[in-house]
Amino acid sequence: MTASVVELRDVSKTYPGRVTAVDGVNLSVGYGELVAVVGQSGSGKSTLLHLMGTLDRPSTGRITVDGYDVAALSDRELSALRAQRVGFVFQQFHLAVGVPVLDAVADGLLYAGVPRRERRRRAASALGRVGLDHRTDHLPHQLSGGERQRVAVARAVVGEPALLLADEPTGNLDSASGAAVLALLRRLHGAGTTVVVITHDRGLAAELDRRVELRDGRVVTDTGVCGGGWEPGVTGRAVSGSPV
Ligand code: ADP
Ligand code: MG
Repeated sequence: MTASVVELRDVSKTYPGRVTAVDGVNLSVGYGELVAVVGQSGSGKSTLLHLMGTLDRPSTGRITVDGYDVAALSDRELSALRAQRVGFVFQQFHLAVGVPVLDAVADGLLYAGVPRRERRRRAASALGRVGLDHRTDHLPHQLSGGERQRVAVARAVVGEPALLLADEPTGNLDSASGAAVLALLRRLHGAGTTVVVITHDRGLAAELDRRVELRDGRVVTDTGVCGGGWEPGVTGRAVSGSPV
């Protein structure tokens, strides 16, 4: 059993056309951490997030998510693991047109087999956590960008995932709304959620506990690395330091 919510060992991802987007990455994220992944456009951040979230499988190397070896799971088992243990937030909020906020968030529980009434109850509670309890009947187009992203965050956390992955969640927002979304992620982290957030905004990243920098698909900096407990070449926070 591992104390990491997600662990990558010598992981590479090569796309057709032979672009190696992620190249020999070793990375371990402990339960309760808040990690920023930074790097220039094209450095492999989104590919890394897809791998961490089991949306994609590595070309080589080993990934465990919440203790499960991804390679040992069928596509169906992987979908179930993802649905129950991982939440995603993307730059473009991905809220369906015409679907009220409460239903959009409740849909985050569709694959967890939760009855409708309970889905809606939990969705209302998640909307409360993101400060939108007064907007549950609104449609996406009636909300600001920042509010839409907070709805997306509520949908991502409604199932109490072990891991929340956010890919440039502030990329489409003005600086004030972006700061509010980041503050929300910090608050969720404070309440126990493990958060990995991709950003190319170094100012935002500098505010987070741990920064992992990618360049050409490789980890070139990891501020979470501390001495003992890890094999040579394996980056990540020491196990004893990670649980909150
Ligand atoms: P970032 O999110 O840091 O901008 P990406 O992970 O999206 O980086 O991309 C890393 C590299 O992989 C880039 O060179 C990109 O063009 C390439 N890439 C990403 N997705 C695909 C894909 N589906 N097929 C082929 N190449 C891809
Ligand atoms: Mg990207």
